[in-house]
Amino acid sequence: MPFIIAIDGPAASGKGTIARALAAHFGFHHLDTGLLYRATGAKGGDPVAAARSLDASDLTRPDLRSAEAGQAASRIAAIPEVRAALVDFQHRFAEQEPGAVLDGRDIGTVICPDAAVKLYVTASDQVRARRRAIELGADPDEMLAQLQERDRRDSDRASAPLKPAPDAVLLDTTHLAIPEAIALAIAQVNMVRG
Ligand code: C5P
Repeated sequence: MPFIIAIDGPAASGKGTIARALAAHFGFHHLDTGLLYRATGAKGGDPVAAARSLDASDLTRPDLRSAEAGQAASRIAAIPEVRAALVDFQHRFAEQEPGAVLDGRDIGTVICPDAAVKLYVTASDQVRARRRAIELGADPDEMLAQLQERDRRDSDRASAPLKPAPDAVLLDTTHLAIPEAIALAIAQVNMVRG
């Protein structure tokens, strides 16, 4: 049975960096599930049809990392039929040997509730906004407002809202350097793998 690591958390919490590092360390596959929603939003037109016809080439569009693509993603991500259309892809991805790391908002709660390890990665709003502003070359105050709006939408929606699974381990990266956060995540996985 493949070893599944589920990582959830709000935007710019560090979950993507941690997920990539865990996948590299353990030789696992990695899926940034946010890309599925970003690609669906970026296709335009009817979001349900866009999600149903999504293919691998849609995930390589160069404009998916922008703040606008993030906002569009969080709007279409609230539509239950969009989420349903993306479930099979994520399940198939998670079933790959020897293991997979998936990061997103609902991996531990909805997509992979039986994951061997669940991490919920957070950081203060200010630190997350500063990180994203540096990454995108944007204004930190504007980023703060955008992140808070997106988190609110992701947390308040009825369908698979952003929240920690009851059995998730919380990892607050506010005061951690990247290597420290990665080391803690690796230690957590090693505790389970034995
Ligand atoms: O993680 P990222 O910022 O790329 O995600 C973009 C948006 O996609 C999120 O704000 C959220 O609305 C949506 N998303 C989701 N479920 C996931 C991953 C992302 O609803 N598993």
